[in-house]
Parts: sequence; C-alpha cells; structure tokens
Amino acid sequence: MDTTLLLDALRRAHLADPDPDAPIRIDRLRRLETALQAWESRLVAAIHADFGHRSAAESGLFDITLPIADIRFARRSLRRWMRPRRVAVPAYLQPAKALLRPQPLGVVGIIAPWNFPVYLTAGPLAMVLAAGNRAMVKPSELTPATADVLNALLTETFAPDEVACVTGGPDVAANVAALPFDHLVFTGSTAVGRKVAEAAARNLTPVTLELGGKSPAILAASADPQRAARRIAWGKLANAGQICIAPDYALVHRPLIGPFVDSLAEAMRRMLPEGAASADYGAIVSDRHRTRLESLLAEAEAAGARVIRPVGAAPGPGLRRMAPAIVLDPPPDLRLMQEEIFGPILPVIAYDSRDEALARVADGPRPLALYLFAEAAEDRQAWIARSLAGGMAVNDTLLHVACNGLPFGGVGASGTGSWHGEDGFRRFSHMKPVLIQSRLNGGFLMEPPFSGWKARALR
Ligand code: NAD
Repeated sequence: MDTTLLLDALRRAHLADPDPDAPIRIDRLRRLETALQAWESRLVAAIHADFGHRSAAESGLFDITLPIADIRFARRSLRRWMRPRRVAVPAYLQPAKALLRPQPLGVVGIIAPWNFPVYLTAGPLAMVLAAGNRAMVKPSELTPATADVLNALLTETFAPDEVACVTGGPDVAANVAALPFDHLVFTGSTAVGRKVAEAAARNLTPVTLELGGKSPAILAASADPQRAARRIAWGKLANAGQICIAPDYALVHRPLIGPFVDSLAEAMRRMLPEGAASADYGAIVSDRHRTRLESLLAEAEAAGARVIRPVGAAPGPGLRRMAPAIVLDPPPDLRLMQEEIFGPILPVIAYDSRDEALARVADGPRPLALYLFAEAAEDRQAWIARSLAGGMAVNDTLLHVACNGLPFGGVGASGTGSWHGEDGFRRFSHMKPVLIQSRLNGGFLMEPPFSGWKARALR
C-alpha cells in the first residue's frame, strides 16, 4: 500500500472540491454514523477478540455511543459552525467589512491508539469531515481485528479519495507521520507523540497531539470519601484502567485515608461481583502490558508499600484480566509513580496541606486530567484556579470527555490541541481572515504623496 499515492488521490479530490457545502459534509457524517450503527456487533466482537475480553456494554458505551454522540452534535451544529463570523472594523477602515471564514485545510492524517480503537478513530474523523477535509486513518496494530473491521467499514462507507485507511505497525505509522498532510492528529503515548511531532515538523505540518500522563484524583479536606471512592473506582475499573484520563493515582487529605480506602475496596467489590472474572471487567490488551503492570506492583511490594487487592483474580493462565490493586503510599521514585500506569492499579498517597498537594501536582509534567473531590466551594475555587491540567472534573472522573460543548485535550506533555466539538471544527479549518473593502473607503488615505491634510490625518 503506497501511502504517497493514497495521499495524492486524497489531495487531488480535495483540490477538485476544496470547499464542500454543508449538505455534503452532513452526508459524510451521516454515512459514518449509519456505518457505526450497522457494524456495531462486528466492531464490538473484534474489540472483544483483540482484548481477550471486553464486555459488549463497555465497548458499546465507549466505542459506539460516544462517537455517535460526537457525530450527531457535529451534524446539528455544522451550519452554525460554518457561518463566517463578522469581526469589528477599526474606524480608519470603515465602512469595510471583516470576517473570519472557516475553510477546509485539505487532507488530515489520523493516527489512533488501541485503548478505544473505534472511538479514537471515528471521533477525530467525524470532526475532520465536519470541517470539510479528507482523511487518512491509521488504526493501532495492537487491536488488529478491530483495525481490519474499521478498514472494511471505511472502505464500504467512503470513496478511497474521501477517507483512506492504512493498517500496520510502527513502520507504517512512522511512514504515515512523515507524509506532508495539512494537519496530523495523533492519539497515543507521550514518547511516540514526540516522534510524531518531529516528523510533522519537517513538513511544517501542524499537529494535534492527544497524549497521556499521570492524572491525579485529589481528595480535598472537604471531600466526601465515599462519593469520591465510588467515582474513582469507576474511573479506574472502566476498560481495566486503560484510559488516557483514568485517575492514575489518588492524593488524599491524610485524615480521609482510612474511610477512602475502605470505601474504594467496597466500591470495587460491588462493581466486580465475580472479581476479575466479572463479565463487565475488561482484559489487559497484551501479555507485554500485563507483565509491565505486574512488575510495577512487584517493585512497589519490594519497596515495602502495602498492596490491597479488594477482589479475587480471574482463573485461567491465558486470561489477561488483572485484579485491581490499591497501593498505599509507594515511594515517589518507583516506576509506579513516574510512569503513566494505564491499568487497574491505584496508588493512594496522603498529604497534609493543600499547598503541599498543589506543589506535588505542579512539580510533575502537566496532567491530561485532574479530578477534584471537594464539597466546599473554597476548595474547588482554589484547585480550579491554581492547578494546571488539560481538563478537570469536580466530584467525578472521566465524564468531562463526554461533554460535547467542552474542548478536550492536554497541556504541555499531555498534549496540544483538541479535536472535540466546535474547537475541533476550528482546529481542522483555516479560519481565514477576510477584509472586504468598501467603495466609500478606497484606502486612498494611505496612498502617497503624504502632504497637506493627509500628512496631518495620518499622524
Ligand atoms: P502508542 O503511542 O504506542 O501508539 C499509538 C499509535 O502510534 C499506534 O497507531 C502506533 O502504530 C503509532 N506509532 C507507533 N510508532 C510510531 C511512530 N514512530 N510514528 C508515528 N506513529 C507511531 O500508544 P498506545 O499504546 O496505542 O496508546 C496508549 C497511550 O495513548 C497512553 O499513553 C494514553 O494515555 C494515550 N492516549 C491518549 C488519549 C488522549 O485523548 N489524550 C486517548 C487514548 C490514549
């Protein structure tokens, strides 16, 4: 598969119709939506096969319902988003008009990860199409069955010069990242994101990088430990912790540690009635990932940290369903506290003062998400104002990503830009500034010779 030829075809098609109108864009969005619905059972089965186990309910929610919600939101909002925006004109240019006119960029590359293999392909694709572009999509090689189904779905739904799909491993991905796209969207790890940014820079291709990191969940002094435990347990158990915005670790006001950890264990037991073998609990994506997670735990135990496993393991050596673990006060130099965990392990760390917790978060790379549990307005205001993270949810986890009106993305090492909602539409459009001069103001004030009244007026 020659990606340069694919890009050429996409680019030629774009140049033949560089500004598709709203009905064309809405038709593309509808086709994508209808295809996701029609292919749902095949997609869900492929995800299940790739992971070794993932419930239809979980895949349906995250990989089908979420992108469809994004597509519908884009369809409904598109005409408004496409409208040129009038901009105020200074007195010396009046009565000229000024406006910002969204224009498609051209061809956008999309490189996707494995953890939500459909959502993180179809979601950005929807916004790229809403903005009137064409796309080349590269799903993750770690979910090969899903990549094949996605490939078939996209081939059936779109002409090859509307949306092209390329499958393969890191070599193919690196090759895609080196193509001279008009924009490149990458969702994945910070380490690979750095390589993608380097490759794109050579073509001066602008990038949207949706990366990872360690997203803290903070229990302020005013937190309700039971409420916090329930939402943090859910955020950590969903997709077995393999979510870019899963709460990575909990920072807990010291007096709340006991009730929080008890409630957390209880919430996990309630959500996983059959332990790690519970039907709604997903597997770890590969043996390599499972081994990495086990070694993080082994290192923590060797360093003397207490590890609590609230539910039993899943039977069967071949199954990659890992029982969740809570690790109490692990030393900060452990890999567990340095790397993004991306699995069902929750370190719990006590702190004594808000300033100490704020400093601890600020000392690390900027997180993708920050979760604050606080009942007092004063705690909320302090954390909202003084912490810096890609996004934030108060008294909940994960759900800010499902709020269509909010952009979603990282800051610093957790990423740059956002493909969600109107922000995504603008990101994949060139918001072209246009000045339309009036007959009544020919600009002659600025034409030489600058003598007499002109010289005085220009001063
Ligand atoms: P990854 O970085 O290993 O792989 C992502 C994609 O990059 C894959 O398609 C892969 O083929 C491709 N790739 C590999 N080498 C490449 C190269 N040299 N050039 C270009 N592309 C290359 O990430 P992953 O393991 O699939 O996903 C997990 C990571 O993704 C976690 O860090 C997680 O936090 C992050 N993530 C972020 C978001 C977000 O929205 N911010 C969402 C999901 C996952």
